[in-house]
Amino acid sequence: MCGLCQTTCPDVFYVPEKMVVLENADLSQVEKIEAAATGCPVSVIALEYDHSTRRDNVE
Ligand code: SF4
Repeated sequence: MCGLCQTTCPDVFYVPEKMVVLENADLSQVEKIEAAATGCPVSVIALEYDHSTRRDNVE
């Protein structure tokens, strides 16, 4: 494990031995998260996007 994702986005990724996503990760840091995924040398960071725009009580 190279630790590059933690270096790129330490509020989201933590690499004690294997990379983990922090329990209270700040997922609003989209650009840094995407940079970590793009920079991962073995391409193991998969991103999913939630494009839902749920609106309750809207007619
Ligand atoms: S997930 Fe990718 S960038 Fe992060 S430590 Fe592992 S190999 Fe490096």
